[in-house]
Amino acid sequence: MPGDSPRDQLEFFRDIGVRDVFLSRPAGAKGAPTLVPGATPDLPSLAQFLDGCQRCKLGKTRTNLVFGQGNPHAELMFVGEAPGRDEDEQGLAFVGRAGQLLTKIIEAIGRKREDVFIANVLKCRPPNNRNPEPDEVASCRPFLDEQVRLERMARIVGKDALPARQQLTLFSAEIVNEAFLRQSAFSEIDWYASPQRLAAMMRLIGRFIALAERALAGGTPLDRITSLGVLRALQRMGEEIAEGDAGAFGALAQRVEDEFRAAGEAGRGS
Ligand code: SF4
Repeated sequence: MPGDSPRDQLEFFRDIGVRDVFLSRPAGAKGAPTLVPGATPDLPSLAQFLDGCQRCKLGKTRTNLVFGQGNPHAELMFVGEAPGRDEDEQGLAFVGRAGQLLTKIIEAIGRKREDVFIANVLKCRPPNNRNPEPDEVASCRPFLDEQVRLERMARIVGKDALPARQQLTLFSAEIVNEAFLRQSAFSEIDWYASPQRLAAMMRLIGRFIALAERALAGGTPLDRITSLGVLRALQRMGEEIAEGDAGAFGALAQRVEDEFRAAGEAGRGS
């Protein structure tokens, strides 16, 4: 008879000619259903799907799962890294001091909190606010991707058929996505981004949007606005402007003004 160890048992089966061994799931261990991208019809269904999630170890230590909240048809989505203590206690994203800062940033671009959707990469708080671990991000990230997909659905369908003013709003959201998600929670850079730096970036984007709206209302074609050279610099400023480099932010702000002025003059001349 084989010994008790798994190795002895497997060797015994091998010796008597067994070539395949099928392992059953241990009694009591319930498998979480797998998320099928694109199969969830809306955000409430996704929230229900995640209810009670134990797909990673944070499920055991959280107080509340923080799905995210806001306008389900928002044109802007803000994504943080993970819930903190206040969020964990209340089950809401970006409350407490982080929430107040975010509210100011949102207001700086002429929006209200209720206009946007707010979520985190991780839906559960890491103990003592430690850094998320790779396996936790790997387990939870698909749910953020699905939230983004659901958020964007209304924006992408028929985008080209929308009036120019609405297209500009979508375009503005893409700039915010580019500028912030490039230096997002998924990279180290985000840890060094101060509130002042984030606010400086938002002010620049807000100014670009204000000038773009004015130019559009004044008859400048949308494609002329979206082909301005300064756009690429705005999209990459999170990566390319060093923390505390106020001069670079100032130069970029001037470039935004100059390019819109030139576009307006070109428009009047044509
Ligand atoms: S962090 Fe995400 S994957 Fe982990 S338990 Fe919470 S909801 Fe589930």
